[in-house]
Parts: sequence; structure tokens; C-alpha cells
Amino acid sequence: MGLTFDPAAVALPQGHFIDGAFIATAGSTEIQLFRPSDGIAFAACPIAGPETVDRAMQSAARARISSGWSKVRPRERVKVLHAWADLIDAHAEPLARIEALSSTRPITQVREVDIPMATEQIRFFAEMADKEGGALVPTAEDQMGMILTEPYGVVAAIAPWNFPLIMAAWKLGPALAAGNAVVIKPSEMTPHSTLFIADLAVRAGLPPGVLNVVLGDGATTGVAMAGHPLAAKISFTGSTRAGRAIMGNVAQNGIKPMTLELGGKSPQVVFADADIELAANCIARNIMGNAGQVCVAGSRLIVARSVAEDLVGQLQTRMSGALAHPTWDETSTYSPIISTLQIGRIDDIVTRTRTVGGECLIGGGKMDCAGSYYQPTLIAGVDPASPAVREEIFGPVLTIQTFDNGEDEALSLAAHPEYGLAAGVFTRDLGRALRMTQALPAGTLWVNRYGRSWDHILPTGGFGNSGLGKDLGRAAYRANRREKSVLIDIGAS
Ligand code: NAD
Repeated sequence: MGLTFDPAAVALPQGHFIDGAFIATAGSTEIQLFRPSDGIAFAACPIAGPETVDRAMQSAARARISSGWSKVRPRERVKVLHAWADLIDAHAEPLARIEALSSTRPITQVREVDIPMATEQIRFFAEMADKEGGALVPTAEDQMGMILTEPYGVVAAIAPWNFPLIMAAWKLGPALAAGNAVVIKPSEMTPHSTLFIADLAVRAGLPPGVLNVVLGDGATTGVAMAGHPLAAKISFTGSTRAGRAIMGNVAQNGIKPMTLELGGKSPQVVFADADIELAANCIARNIMGNAGQVCVAGSRLIVARSVAEDLVGQLQTRMSGALAHPTWDETSTYSPIISTLQIGRIDDIVTRTRTVGGECLIGGGKMDCAGSYYQPTLIAGVDPASPAVREEIFGPVLTIQTFDNGEDEALSLAAHPEYGLAAGVFTRDLGRALRMTQALPAGTLWVNRYGRSWDHILPTGGFGNSGLGKDLGRAAYRANRREKSVLIDIGAS
């Protein structure tokens, strides 16, 4: 049977999820949600106020202790998290429909990528629970030094809308495996898939309350979470603007560790010796994937002038002809933009870029259809001060800058004054590839490819305004446990 489904026939989980049960939200203030593919209203997201956030935090703190989640033999946590991942896979069909209905993710990509990747990430972190630990460290012979690790307590996790399931897995996998309880707030625009998997977690054996989900916006719910005294650690993914606000909020309410995975403006640097067809495939696929609503979107092409015409021609071909099929149609490959507000933001940056000399070689506007689709857009005639080169767009827009004078000029164009999330280099010269990866100021670097693999061991995180700390990899697990140093005088023999 095919994957295409009727969006009107999808049952959505309702309410917050606290203590293992869905909580009615009658009377709450709500945000109306519209399907990105056709603009039709389909649900409302309740906004949890400080009282509901407090209830979720108290429940998580209580459940962590009463269930012994932090203290059980770590292998028990491994088993529960594996059972959870298996149960999510077993419910892939209804889960995929929920995700494709409410987000920008086409149904086929949710089934082939988002769900299997999210469950693999949960399994990856589950396996760390009984393998990562403290250490005995070198000290004088009459002493013994140890580093003990322990979970923080309750982790407050706040997620964005662009890959709702994968973002939830990045936060929940390491925090739960490390023995914490979690209160998570999915984006107010895409809350349903997180609710669905939280319910499955309890059915898989996670003690009720160890994972609570509160719904709501940033200004009310997110602020209450980050400032809550029981939130021992903050795990945030979203815009740099909100990351800054969270830092300020936390600073007013106490000192807490936080990981902040924020925005980017990532370059893809193509040298004259590169395989141009390979580069064109990678660059076009990346900027069109999820219609550019990807934190590591390679949105700035920096190409050697001698190969620019060839590469840009190939990009124009690959980026033309995107079809606005709704996300519930199995033939859909090109994503809508999450909201009309986001379409407006993209268009504003493109328009301002045009007024200072930017030339749209293709695209440059909303598609002529009911949903929020933006045309794949290539902009030439830009410089480092152009709005589309400086500002994160979070849409299918690629700027083109050229260089003549080798690595130094390429590097100076590639380095962004604010962001340092990811960068790509295309070259056949191994030495050049290594020099560029050493010199580029970004947390993730790809050579002759652009985009993540399924190797969850590679951490991701940004420099500068792109964030603090890492998701994925051992670093993400370790960031969910705090260290204690112990020094014991054992006496001389
Ligand atoms: P956003 O910052 O608007 O919202 C993200 C989340 O934060 C939402 O749940 C929102 O309700 C909440 N929030 C907003 N303001 C808050 C506040 N003051 N206090 C607490 N919570 C608050 O971002 P978005 O539009 O959902 O997502 C797009 C952004 O996320 C882009 O900038 C993108 O680059 C970034 N992102 C980064 C990564 C990464 O790994 N670095 C991954 C995905 C997305």
C-alpha cells in the first residue's frame, strides 16, 4: 500500500502529557495551527502557563526519585530505551502521518529518514548508559582520585519545528539515558509527534513522570521552563534570538548549565579542482532539503570564478522545477515553508537583497499555490554586506560569491562575522581540504559532501552565535551528567 494519506483522517494526540497521562487543556489560551501544505486550519496548540509548567517540573523531579530512574542498574535504562525505540518503529505509520500532516516534512521522507533516524539516535544514546562513566585518575600513591558522574536531575528541553521528531530524539535520548528526567516543550507549531512518542515511552516501560511534555509558546511556556528552579539543565535548539533570551532569563534566575544549538549561515566553498557535478548535486540537494529550513543549510556558495559558470548552470537545472505536492502525498519531495510568517521573513530578506544589487537567477518569490511554498532561489550580485549573505534565511535561498585568489580569499569570504555552525569544502586536493577544515571557524565540516550521515557519534554544535555545547556524539551524553572529583587519602603502605 502507498504512503499517501487523507490529512482529514489523522487522529492527533491532545493536551499536555504529565505523569504518564494526557492532561485536558479546556479553557487554555491556544495558538491556531495551519497545515503548511495548504494553509487549512487543522488543530490548536494550548499554551501552558507557569502553573502547568510547575506541575510538569514537580512531577518529573518526583518521578525521577520515586522510580529510581537515576539509580537503577544502567542496563535497565538501556533496555527501556531500546523498547521505546522499537515501539516507535512499530508505530511508524500513524506517527509518520502526524508528522507529515503538521510539519514541513514530506511523508516519504518521514518514513525513510526522520523516524528511523530518530529511533537510531535513541538506541545510540541508550547504549551509552552502561558504557560511559567516571574515571580513576593518576594521583600520588598514598591517594586515590576519582571522577564520579551523576545526572543533573530534571532537564528542561525546548525544541524547534524544522525536524520535530529528530530534534526530540537529540534531546530525549542523551538526557534520559544519562538518568535524568525531562520536561520537553516541542515547538508550538509542531507539538503532536512529541506527544505521541512520549505516550509510547511510558508504554515501553519508562516510569510515568520521567518524561513530561508541555505545550506552548516561547514567551509564556518556554520562559517558565527555563526559569524554573527545578530545571537543573537547559537543552535548547532554536534561533539565536531565543538562545540569547534564554541565557538572560537563566542568568536572572540562577546559574545553570545549558546547551544552545542555534542558527547558522553556512558556506559551501568550491575550488576549481573540485568535481563540479558532485558539488552541484550536494549543494542543490542540501539547500532544497526541507526547503532550506535546516540549521546547517549551506546557504552561501563561495566558488572559484573559473568554474562558477559551469557550477551555477548545473545548480539552475537542479533547482528548477520543484513541485508543490502536499506533504501527505507520497510523491512529495519539496517541502512547504512552516508558516506564512516565515514566508514573509524569507521574502523580506530576498527583497532587501535585491534592492542592494542582488540578482535572482531563479526563484525569488512564493510559489503560486495554496500552501506556503517558496521557489528555490539563486542570488548573484551579492557581497558580504548583502542581507541574504549576512542573515539566516531558513528557506531555499542560495547566494553566490566568487573568488580568484585561492584559499585565503575563499576563507575570508567563508568566515561569517556571527555564525559558525557548519561549512563544506569541495576539492580534489587532500592538503587543501585539510588546511581548509583546520582554518574554517565552524563546528561541523564536510568535505566533498554536504549534510549529516547516520554516524551519530559525530557531535554537532556551533561556534559564536551558533551556540554552546554539542548535540549528538559522546559529548551530548556527557553534557547530561555532572562530574564530581573525589580525592581519598589512603595512607602509605
Ligand atoms: P525559535 O527560536 O523561534 O523557537 C525554538 C523554540 O524555542 C520553540 O519551542 C519556541 O517556542 C521556544 N522559544 C522561543 N523563545 C523562547 C524564549 N524566550 N524562552 C524559551 N523558549 C523560547 O526557533 P524556530 O523558528 O522554532 O527554529 C528555527 C531556528 O532553529 C533557526 O534559527 C535554526 O537555525 C535553529 N535550529 C538550530 C539547530 C542546531 O542544531 N543548531 C537545529 C534546528 C534548528
